[in-house]
Amino acid sequence: MTAVDTAASSPAQRRILRTEIPGPRSRERQVLRDANVAAGLGQTLPVFVERAGGAVVVDADGNHLIDLASGIAVTAVGASHPHVVRRISEQAQRFTHTCFLVTEYDGFVDLAAALNRITPGDHAKRTALFSTGAEAVENAVKIARVATGRPAVVVLGNAYHGRSLLTMTMTAKAAPYKDGFGPFAPEVYRAPAPYPYRWPGGPQRCAEEAAEALRDLVETQIGGHRVAAIVVEPIQGEGGFIVPPPGYLPRVRELADRHGIVFVADEVQTGLGRTGDMFACDREGVVPDLTITAKALGGGMPIAAVTGSAQVMDAVPAGGLGGTFAGNPVSCAAALATLEVIEREGLVERAREIEALALPRLRALAGPDSRVGEARGRGAMLAMEFVRPGSRTPDPEAARAVAAACHRQGVLVLVCGTYGNVVRLLPPLVIESHLLDDALGVIEEAVRSR
Ligand SMILES: *Cc1c(COP(=O)(O)O)cnc(C)c1O
Repeated sequence: MTAVDTAASSPAQRRILRTEIPGPRSRERQVLRDANVAAGLGQTLPVFVERAGGAVVVDADGNHLIDLASGIAVTAVGASHPHVVRRISEQAQRFTHTCFLVTEYDGFVDLAAALNRITPGDHAKRTALFSTGAEAVENAVKIARVATGRPAVVVLGNAYHGRSLLTMTMTAKAAPYKDGFGPFAPEVYRAPAPYPYRWPGGPQRCAEEAAEALRDLVETQIGGHRVAAIVVEPIQGEGGFIVPPPGYLPRVRELADRHGIVFVADEVQTGLGRTGDMFACDREGVVPDLTITAKALGGGMPIAAVTGSAQVMDAVPAGGLGGTFAGNPVSCAAALATLEVIEREGLVERAREIEALALPRLRALAGPDSRVGEARGRGAMLAMEFVRPGSRTPDPEAARAVAAACHRQGVLVLVCGTYGNVVRLLPPLVIESHLLDDALGVIEEAVRSR
């Protein structure tokens, strides 16, 4: 742990409240924001950031917020890790762009090699780089279609894969992601999510029955020979931090093998150490054909990747993939530095420590008579699902109220879930234990005082 390195440019790693949140300076800027920025862009907390580092965000009023959002699972190594910043600035001074499709550079190739090495499976692999998660998901589908010569794409209930036309079609939740934005892309089919807490037959039967429902969709409703890809988040993110029961992902792998379907793991949110494994698929030793990374990959810079078996990846002829900014050299430098930090600082193991510190405390808040119906998650991807006590009826107001109470106390948490009733924690993996402890105290107070 390079604590000294981190401290050099980081704000003090503690919670400091100088004003109410948002404070007067943030509120002033918000007026300008509302007058100039499209209303379709929401915000979790209308504070304006001056500086951020480690697990602390400093706002325009000088408040130090504890960051349990990481800019939606992006800043796993902290918002401005010195090693990442150094490599960004070195690269920016050499050149900022050439377009890899015009003239090439080492960073792109080095990052492809690194991803080929760390993604699940030790078969021959290739990587294509992009800029955003949605773009990478779209490209994974394009690749799978060319590799198989088939049209259909199978996704799950509660899925989130992005906001572009194809990926919003693949996303499950109507409002706000899909409402009014249709018509949608064709040939997208949805199987029920393996959601143990809400599985009609109970959590014990979930793995088997959800896999059976998927098999039925593929074999009897679509036809296995028409399915190009099954795309799954190995732990669902925006849909509610839903951890599939053990046995489900291996069954998906088997089904894909039986029909020559490309198994695509969307590890955009779960990948790169977040869940206490380098990839969430690693936990059960499942090897996808294509693995998608984005969010945490660039240490805050926009970059995404599709990595997979050489045979599938190389099915697309030259010119079929790419983009002007795909694999931007500054983003590649940031990503290589980020992967070094994850490995050097043991952040995969750190995610397991975060789980060990936080999950028991969240579980202690849950119970049949509590508003917290279930606390769940893996590694540093943890959540509480809010329900009416004594039932499983979703209670989105309770989730919103708890999040708002945390925000007032300077702890930045996010709400998610198909029913909007899940409060989720995505701390930077570099968060110091005392800071996590302080944040958990605020969360406990917010839940208990409801
Ligand atoms: C965020 C997310 C995406 C979309 O990534 P963007 O970079 O926002 O386009 C896709 N899949 C999953 C699982 C995500 O969490």
